[in-house]
Amino acid sequence: MTTIPANLQAVRDRIERALAAASRPAGAVSLLAVSKTWPAERVSEAAAAGQRAFGENYVQEGVDKIRALAGLELEWHFIGPLQSNKSRSVAEHFDWVHSLDRLKLAERLSSQRPPQRAPLNVCIQVNVSGEASKSGVAPDEVGPLAHAVAGLPGLRLRGLMCIPEPDGGEALLRARFRLLGTISEALHGQGLVLDTLSMGMSHDLELAIAEGSTLVRVGTAIFGTRTVVEKPA
Ligand SMILES: *Cc1c(COP(=O)(O)O)cnc(C)c1O
Repeated sequence: MTTIPANLQAVRDRIERALAAASRPAGAVSLLAVSKTWPAERVSEAAAAGQRAFGENYVQEGVDKIRALAGLELEWHFIGPLQSNKSRSVAEHFDWVHSLDRLKLAERLSSQRPPQRAPLNVCIQVNVSGEASKSGVAPDEVGPLAHAVAGLPGLRLRGLMCIPEPDGGEALLRARFRLLGTISEALHGQGLVLDTLSMGMSHDLELAIAEGSTLVRVGTAIFGTRTVVEKPA
């Protein structure tokens, strides 16, 4: 017997409790189910339990699942590191990219987005952990990139994403999440309309929600511990 429906319900309950604890409105956080390494059958089970949005880290694996499950009309988010030479598949098949970290990639995704599809929703990934992390844009480089991305016709800039280093403890995690919110507010002040703070995973979603997350990316707490060795992107 699958436990995916029960796990999903437990995660939804955690989200709503965290929102209440932060005096934020119910429903203010959406749940992205991270299905990387899990087969399409597990995604179908989650979809049958009401989950619509799924996150993938590897281009070919994601595209295979999108094709296999096309009839379910799910929403697909690319959340892993993205090489420029794989951008076309992402532009053609996904609905969102959370890991945008350079203008060249943004320009490729914009020009490769099929014109009959809605613009690709994107979040800029920010390196909120300084030298403790290599992925993402440095905080002081987010503004120029955000303004450039906002002008690309094939993209719709939705917000910011971060993955803090996991081992720093609660206070540090909260400070990292808070920094993403501060950067987002600064962009609002410059006239950019953003509605997404993509932050929080299985182990830290409560802290992220306390700091203003609007979208949590949750894998393990829904599908279980990944046993497949993760491939490099
Ligand atoms: C794998 C992954 C997640 C989900 O992590 P869990 O700890 O399994 O919840 C979230 N975001 C990104 C970018 C990931 O690569």
